[in-house]
Amino acid sequence: MSGTDPDCLFCKIVAGQIPAEIVSETEHTVAFRDINGQAPTHVLVVPRLHAPDIASLAVVAPDVAASLLLETRRIALEAGHEAYRLVFNTGADAGQSVFHAHGHVLAGRDLSWPPG
Ligand code: AMP
Repeated sequence: MSGTDPDCLFCKIVAGQIPAEIVSETEHTVAFRDINGQAPTHVLVVPRLHAPDIASLAVVAPDVAASLLLETRRIALEAGHEAYRLVFNTGADAGQSVFHAHGHVLAGRDLSWPPG
């Protein structure tokens, strides 16, 4: 399966065309530190396949979406966090600014609820 968008920031990071602090790579995903971290651990986990958001990814490639979900947990545990917050901002009005599916793994500080 393929599918990239030449104008997409995260596709460029996946392709190595833009530098990022890579945390992990799997067959289906690449994880890297958020450039504007909001917690001691703030990692973005993205599919290699371009899809604009997580639900769209689940429709076209449910195996990739499941793999991404499991990788978020593995990354949190590897960083020493059994408790973590997983955020998928979906849509501009919900704060999504990069339209390539990505999960934010946030941990390492008190995380209040409801979120802002
Ligand atoms: P969202 O607002 O949910 O779409 O999340 C996009 C995230 O990407 C934000 O938290 C940004 O700080 C992060 N971001 C933007 N550009 C980069 C980059 N070049 N490297 C790493 N993270 C980035």
